[in-house]
Parts: sequence; C-alpha cells; structure tokens
Amino acid sequence: MFGWFKKSPARQEPVRCEICGAGHVVRLDWGGGAFDAEEDRARTAALDHREDLGRGSLFACRICQEPWWVDAQRTAAHHVTAGKLALLRAWSEADLSLSPAALTLLKKIGPTPPHQYAVDNGDQQFPCAIITRSGERFDHAVLSLQADPPLDSHRPVRLAGEIAEVLESPDALPLAVRKASARSHELAMGYAPTLIDMPDGESFLLNGTQNFLVKRGRRAGEAKVSKSLVSRESRGEVVNAPDDEVLFVAAPPISARGS
Ligand SMILES: [Zn+2]
Repeated sequence: MFGWFKKSPARQEPVRCEICGAGHVVRLDWGGGAFDAEEDRARTAALDHREDLGRGSLFACRICQEPWWVDAQRTAAHHVTAGKLALLRAWSEADLSLSPAALTLLKKIGPTPPHQYAVDNGDQQFPCAIITRSGERFDHAVLSLQADPPLDSHRPVRLAGEIAEVLESPDALPLAVRKASARSHELAMGYAPTLIDMPDGESFLLNGTQNFLVKRGRRAGEAKVSKSLVSRESRGEVVNAPDDEVLFVAAPPISARGS
C-alpha cells in the first residue's frame, strides 16, 4: 500500500521537477504570506494527499511522484529526499518527549542559536552527552527540540525515544562562545572564524557555529571569546567541529508548541 513513492530503479539522475520544485526547493509555504507565496501556491497545487502519518501527512507530486511531508496545520510542505522516507516514518510514530530532568538540564546548557546566515526555523539545539537505552554513549550529541522532521540533517540522526539519560558533555563550549560562533562572519569561502582564548593564553579558531571543542589536554568549558578582533591574519590553530556529532531529535515541550 506504500508503493506509490517507489522510484523506477533505472533512474540514476537526481530528481528535478519544475512543477513541485523537488530537487531545487526543500520547503514550500502552504498557507501563503511568504516572500514567494504565489510560486509556492502553484507548486503545492500539484501535490496530492496520499497518507496520514502519526505526525503530519505525506503528499506526492502528481507529475514526478516525489513525496512531500506536510505538517498537521498545513503550513508548509517539506521535500522528503531520497532515502529519508523510513526515517520520516520512524520519526512520525516515535515518542519524542523528554524527561523533566532532561529539560531542566537543557535549560541550564542553553540553546546554540542558528548561524546568522542560516534559516531560523525555530529549532532549539543543545550540545550534551547522551546515554541510550541500549547503553551507547555519545559525548558529542546535539539534542534538537524541533517541530518538523529531521529531513535535511548533515549529521546522523537518532530519535529521543532512544535516550536513557542526558548529561553535560565534557567537550561542550560555553553558551557565550557558541553564541559568538553563530555570529561569525565568513572571511573566506567556508571559513567563518571565532577566536577563542584558553586560560593558559593559547588561542584557537573555531569555524562556523560550533558546539564542541575537542582538543587533547583542553577543557572546552574554559574557552572564552577572545577580546581580540578576528581577521584573516588571526593566529591560532583552527579546530573544527568533531566529525562524530549525532543529532538527537525531540519534540518541543507542549508549552512551547505553536508559539
Ligand atoms: Zn514534482
């Protein structure tokens, strides 16, 4: 019964549909009022309802058959890219609530804002450590409180139902440093540095919005935003985000929903 989304096995090219926008648009405004609402109205008109999910519904373009997820309030349609349909189904059925203890800890940690050049879709992301029910431990977990499914995460995705315990990460940067990194300017292609100072006087450069500092012999929690202005000439080793970050997806607390 779920066969409608299956693609022809012969097709190798990435989908690009001029009718619904699949392949070049990831989100369509459903209700109007957006910057290019008229264009989006024409695109959403090509989508047919196919199936209700635990959260939201699946629609498909009647021309290219690409699946789009639409929230229960029908405010937006999100393209479900290749390979993400199973994750979407698991997310839509999962218990995405967090324990009161976890929520209290997140409040203490504070959310890392999205980068100033990125779209702010209301997600709240917190660096932390997570122990799963199966006993795995992640010291570089980013716990995200978000209303929409994680369809465009560049990190591996896990769901909140797997969480046994949320702890402070030994490698999480202080909130002030994370906020500064989210305001960083791109000084060269792909290079948006934030200069930080450690207690012994050594400086490091972060790149883009950063949640963690992994550097042997250093305690991320002791990092401070440098008073020196950062520039192309700023000296210091560039320490990028660790490549083992995992996104854990939870739902916003009830009180925050719809706000
Ligand atoms: Zn289409």
